[in-house]
Amino acid sequence: MVRVRFAPSPTGALHIGGVRTALFNYLFAKKHGGEFLLRIEDTDQNRYVEGAEDYIIKSLEWCGLTYDEGVGKGGKHAPYRQSERKALYREYAEALLANGWAYYAFDSAEALEAQRKAFEAKGDTFIYNWATRGSLENSLSLPKEEVEKRLQRGDAYVVRFKMPEGETLQMHDMIRGDVTIDTSTLDDKVLFKSDGMPTYHLANIVDDHLMEITHVIRGEEWLPSMALHLLLYRAFGWQAPEFAHLPLILKPVGNGKLSKRDGIKYGFPVFPMEWEEEGTLLKGFRGEGYFPEALINFLTLLGWNPGGDKEIFSIEELIELFDLEKVHKAGARFDPEKIKWFNHQYLQMKSDTALAELFQPILKEKGLSYPTAALARVVGLIKERATFVADFWELGSYFFVRPTEYDAKALKKQWKDNTSEIIDEVSDILRNAESFSSLALEERIKQYIEEKGYGFGQVMPPLRLALVGEMKGPHIFDIMEIIGKEETLDRLKNIQLATKG
Ligand code: GLU
Repeated sequence: MVRVRFAPSPTGALHIGGVRTALFNYLFAKKHGGEFLLRIEDTDQNRYVEGAEDYIIKSLEWCGLTYDEGVGKGGKHAPYRQSERKALYREYAEALLANGWAYYAFDSAEALEAQRKAFEAKGDTFIYNWATRGSLENSLSLPKEEVEKRLQRGDAYVVRFKMPEGETLQMHDMIRGDVTIDTSTLDDKVLFKSDGMPTYHLANIVDDHLMEITHVIRGEEWLPSMALHLLLYRAFGWQAPEFAHLPLILKPVGNGKLSKRDGIKYGFPVFPMEWEEEGTLLKGFRGEGYFPEALINFLTLLGWNPGGDKEIFSIEELIELFDLEKVHKAGARFDPEKIKWFNHQYLQMKSDTALAELFQPILKEKGLSYPTAALARVVGLIKERATFVADFWELGSYFFVRPTEYDAKALKKQWKDNTSEIIDEVSDILRNAESFSSLALEERIKQYIEEKGYGFGQVMPPLRLALVGEMKGPHIFDIMEIIGKEETLDRLKNIQLATKG
């Protein structure tokens, strides 16, 4: 049974890279008929941010990445919030102390800082490991009685992992393949502190084991921890899960990892939903009008693709095709234009009625009310050029409010000596029209144009200006039908007044 987890720390808004990690876990679990868990890793109280956990849960929900077990849902391994599992980790730290894979260290922060400085002065880097631990204050260097005394006295300590010296560790990553590391280059990481809190490393391994995680799929920034994690499994005598480290999401231009600052600087979202930080409201993908399906489709193809030219995939297709081992090793560049393209595609696929419903709140905000069925017709005429639902206003506001100004350049070009007369004649025809359907109107006006021997260019552009205010918009007669006879006639009258005045 495949069991995977998304294990974010609630240190701020979930970044788009985190969403992709959750997504790849989700796809992998679904593909293998497995289970997907959400565990909140909140052992570092200093980095805890109010509201972040809630934001993570709501973001996953908005993206449709439903989990089977976890915070807010429960499950057979509850609780799933590490701060609520605190009591559990001590016994695991003690087990490692007992079997020799860990030791107590009493060095103060100042003492370690002094070491760091001394090494730096020699052009070296201080590492707490096999080479230095003998001359530092810990249970490997101090006499047994001294260690006992300090523990009894309640001196502050940390429990450190005893990283083996000179072992060439062979590791396997599902994406990166075989990776080798010399353990002499690694440090004795802190696993547990005397305040009773485990560090990330200990809590993460203990929980992955207890929660029966089979595959650890996470960001590339955790690759350097893989050796320690594998050794921890060995130290506990547990079977290690498989590991897969996902490539970074890179900035649109230049080098390095996409950061939230890039989003602010270049004006594109990097968070799934609205998030307030330092007094600024960042709208996130949801707030900017992106559809979650578009975001998911876009993100899946960031670092993986199933080959071929097809780019639009439903979540079911993605699950079917997804192959973790084909995820790229190299970082994937974030392209803000590409996600707009996806949104445009997904908008076109939605029904006019669904889009009209999404557009209703925007109209309401503008104090306008419009029946959804009629709105759906409008949407159908303008959606082709829209990327976001909010674009409908920019593209079709003239359906709802009559123009009060006319594009001066266009007016100058289109308004001839006899235009006013033409508008009057067309108004008469429209006033007497029995049917106000687009088709009937088109036929009737065409007939008039022919009878008079006019060119289309003499009649249609002025009509468009009258109805829209500029030279844009769909078929003129569709507009007339939708806004209706009275409104059409009023608009024709208005342009006459404006041009005469
Ligand atoms: N809590 C870690 C994070 O915030 C989880 C890393 C892991 O998945 O092992 O990314």
